[in-house]
Amino acid sequence: MREATDWEPSDDEIAWTKTNLEPLQIGGTWAPQGLEYERTGEAALRLVSIVNHDGTREAHTRVCKVLEMMDWTVDDDDVERVVNQPTPDEVAANQQSELERIQSIVSSWVCPDDECEEPLVNAQLDRCEWVNYGQHTFHNPETGEDGEADRWLAHITCEGCGTIIPMQPLDYGYIAGEDLFYTWVTNNYRYRVLTREDTVALIDAGGQGIPLGSIIDGVEVPPHMQGTYCLRAPILDEEE
Ligand SMILES: [Zn+2]
Repeated sequence: MREATDWEPSDDEIAWTKTNLEPLQIGGTWAPQGLEYERTGEAALRLVSIVNHDGTREAHTRVCKVLEMMDWTVDDDDVERVVNQPTPDEVAANQQSELERIQSIVSSWVCPDDECEEPLVNAQLDRCEWVNYGQHTFHNPETGEDGEADRWLAHITCEGCGTIIPMQPLDYGYIAGEDLFYTWVTNNYRYRVLTREDTVALIDAGGQGIPLGSIIDGVEVPPHMQGTYCLRAPILDEEE
């Protein structure tokens, strides 16, 4: 599996590898691009899977070279999986089945109220309110370091009983879909994120959108909307 290489790691590359491996428990997995290793001892790693690609084999060879310099051993004699790179058709099929899998999961989510149990897919998903719950500490598994960030939740209203249900942003994205996720309603306006193509078409047609920073009209902009270019439309009374 290992090939000869003239490549010599820089100090940064050695430091990067150490940063990744030192916090790893024995039995833990390290998976840089296209590769998967298991830590099998104090200074021992085993190659579990590798993508069948010249670049990935070269990356593995480089990992081995760095580890050699760190006095670690790498066992790559019997790799469990050699993964072939998927064709575009396979990628599309995988995305479709992933989408269907997510849809079947979210369709089983119900209102947390025991008496109600209305499916959440029936909620008014276009009337989501984004709420900042303030700073919290989070653990970054990649760097092993703790960081601080605002925690935002998406509030939706149960169609059955009117309960406000706070959802994790990713979960809301799954249930509402990408278009609604990138549509934000605040202060009687609806902001819809424009794609690059939509922006070009709008500007060429003499129209104008609005770029979002972190605050607009005194309201904090949720993180996924910050730095986007949007079409802003007033919400008309008859929609209320
Ligand atoms: Zn309910």
